Amino acid sequence: MKLVVRVKLLPTLVQAAALEATLHACNQAATWAAGVAFEENARRPLELRKHTYAEIRVRWQLGAQAAQHAIKKSCDAYTTLKANLRNGRYGRPGSRRHTRASGKPVVFRPEAAQPYDDRMLSWQHEQQTVSIWSTAGRLKSVAFTGQAEQLEVLAAHRKGESDLVCQGGKWFLIATCEIPEGVLNTQPVGFLGVDLGIVNIAVTSDGERHCGRRVNRKREQDRKLRSKLQKKQTKSAKRRAKKHAGKEARRAKDINHKISKRIVAEAERTGRGIALETLTGIRERARLRKPQRTTLHSWPFAQLGSFIVYKAKRAGVPVVYVDPAYTSQECSKCHHTERGNRPAQAVFSCRVCGFVEHADCNASHNIAHRGWYVWVCGAQSTAPELTLIA
Ligand SMILES: [Zn+2]
Repeated sequence: MKLVVRVKLLPTLVQAAALEATLHACNQAATWAAGVAFEENARRPLELRKHTYAEIRVRWQLGAQAAQHAIKKSCDAYTTLKANLRNGRYGRPGSRRHTRASGKPVVFRPEAAQPYDDRMLSWQHEQQTVSIWSTAGRLKSVAFTGQAEQLEVLAAHRKGESDLVCQGGKWFLIATCEIPEGVLNTQPVGFLGVDLGIVNIAVTSDGERHCGRRVNRKREQDRKLRSKLQKKQTKSAKRRAKKHAGKEARRAKDINHKISKRIVAEAERTGRGIALETLTGIRERARLRKPQRTTLHSWPFAQLGSFIVYKAKRAGVPVVYVDPAYTSQECSKCHHTERGNRPAQAVFSCRVCGFVEHADCNASHNIAHRGWYVWVCGAQSTAPELTLIA
């Protein structure tokens, strides 16, 4: 399984200047190469290299590897563009957006990510430093930092290329790791259903509720502060809002890591798989008062799902996705479905058999049932390939 780990670089001022010059040079070269590719209609790496390699080496002082990566980046951009044009991301052929996207060469931002291979970048995990190629020569002992868990993954499983990026004046390396998957449990004894929601972020069919009131209260405070800062148009308010947004995202990520860890550990311990609801529609399903809607929108459920998937893969726990339609209105005992089964946000009370339970628990039972059904019908794990953990 492929996994992406992001570490923050802590370059000295001199090193940062060298990295900046390098990134700009690589992207200028890539933009120029993309222009040549457009004019000459040479969009394959081998062909484009013939037209551009020598000049890039001289004009932008790029090393052999960097020059080849810049060329390949241009070709990849055209491949992506072509795919996007084909699947309608730019509207129909002949439309203004389509014509504009296909009628001019690709341009790279000065700060666009640049791939580094093992010949241009080496990692010293114990010292937490990298040695990285730049247009000003090799930069040695550039310090990096990251969360302990991620640094462990990095040291043990990093493989292949990493991307150098600059975001908001900070430097990052995004490294690809190849994680061995656990031996898949092909005979789960059942499924642990996970209901995602507003009042509780996640509720399992074992009745375990993750992060209810306290997190929500904090989320509400965050939202208030955010709208207050948005109203003020001053520079310092903007800076504060940005800083706060980063803090909020990190806190949410941390909570998602904890929830996913516990859910996967529980499924593994009891020999079960995990049933998740498909996320499309979680927003439409929530018919709520406005403040609650905002909290829902701001929670990264997709991230939580991806954390569960990658931790499950590592543990060999099967994951299935189920259609969540009507899971909140269906009785998990007799399967009678009607809106009146849910007299209040937190209460489920079946109008046919009289079964009463916490509404989210009832929904998670339904998700568990459906998960089991999906599994026996022969659908395999439908987990995405690449997961971002940092
Ligand atoms: Zn019932």
